[in-house]
Amino acid sequence: MSKRVGVLALQGDFEAHRKALDRAGADSVEVRTAAELEDVDGLVIPGGESTTMLRILKDVEMLEPLRRFGQRRPIFGTCAGVILLASAVAHPSQESLGLMEIAVERNAYGRQLDSRVVRLTPGEEFVRRAGGGEVEAVFIRAPIICNVGPRARVYLSYQGDPVLVGEGRHLAATFHPELTADLRIHRLFLETL
Ligand code: GLN
Repeated sequence: MSKRVGVLALQGDFEAHRKALDRAGADSVEVRTAAELEDVDGLVIPGGESTTMLRILKDVEMLEPLRRFGQRRPIFGTCAGVILLASAVAHPSQESLGLMEIAVERNAYGRQLDSRVVRLTPGEEFVRRAGGGEVEAVFIRAPIICNVGPRARVYLSYQGDPVLVGEGRHLAATFHPELTADLRIHRLFLETL
């Protein structure tokens, strides 16, 4: 049976992720309840506003189910999704799922006007797993990953800081791969399902 990937659709740019997953040929579905989590093999947590997402997750009693889901299944977090996956969140601090051993600082690249598009040169591991060529990375009020654990695989960095990190089956991108035509990063995640 083909694997199905869920996109957490409580807030943020979940539609862009669904379109990217469609283009990658994946079977995807929007997830809004703990019950819907039971039907997917992996989950994308999109960008958006992590404080709002956290509040909605609590309101719909999904925070603990999501944490348990992530202990068994892979999660791909982008931007606000990375903030939710992290173990430590600063500036300002807030609760998180603690599913990846990473520490993040929110809004670390400046205000919204400072959001930017940059071209990144992938390291060896990314090229081996996902293919060669530069990666166009769209940063929007992005967090910085200031610390990673010993099990982290840093696939891409920007100005010396990791911006695409794998740990176990989880994947964290502080930028927005769903906003560019390049499907390599979504495919990297789909391979872990
Ligand atoms: N700055 C947002 C937050 O702290 C994340 C921005 C994004 O997901 N594009 O939640």
